[in-house]
Amino acid sequence: MTRILVVEDEFEMAKGLQDNFEFEGYEVELAKNGTEALEKVASFTPHLIVLDVMLPHKSGYDVCREMRSKNNNTPIIMLTARGEEIDKILGLELGADDYITKPFSVRELLSRVKAVLRRTPDSDGRSPICQIGKLTLDFDQLTAHDVNGEVELSHKEFEILKYFVEHQGEIISRDQFLDKVWGYEHYPTSRTVDNYIVKLRKAIEENPVHPRHIITVYGIGYKFIR
Ligand code: CA
Repeated sequence: MTRILVVEDEFEMAKGLQDNFEFEGYEVELAKNGTEALEKVASFTPHLIVLDVMLPHKSGYDVCREMRSKNNNTPIIMLTARGEEIDKILGLELGADDYITKPFSVRELLSRVKAVLRRTPDSDGRSPICQIGKLTLDFDQLTAHDVNGEVELSHKEFEILKYFVEHQGEIISRDQFLDKVWGYEHYPTSRTVDNYIVKLRKAIEENPVHPRHIITVYGIGYKFIR
């Protein structure tokens, strides 16, 4: 199900949007300020964010800026309170995907949401196909291809890549991998993680010696960039 995070401090407005989105079949969570928004981005991992600009404490601009600086590219539609050109330009410069000026019709917002989701096929919640470096992956069929044909990857390797994709831009420690991908009942060493990464880099990276997608964060672990 496609997940939408609505960030809006006016409760009536937020609730109204939630009802409308849920009616359209989206799964919705609400955040009422910028700090909560960033928490929900991490916990709810939305496919799209409807982000009000005027929020208490942290503005919508701040939220957008912080997410993009962490390489989080979740699509954002900004709700600007005023029709001022400066707001729209600032929002788009900070990396928002679209904006809509209050007051707006819900139908207009819904069509913008659909348009933005269409432009981001990896995040529409349906497409399991994902391009990572040289590889085209299908996370439903568990198949991988590059220009030379099918590439054999193990189930564990798909799990690692999926975890990377779901946490792109974040620093992931080796312990986090061991916990989330292997689980507590197994006891591989952090060396195991490194061995898997070496193999995955060979499959993905144009130049595995200078990786551009699976980056080593010295002393901690890895960071994935699409
Ligand atoms: Ca507001």
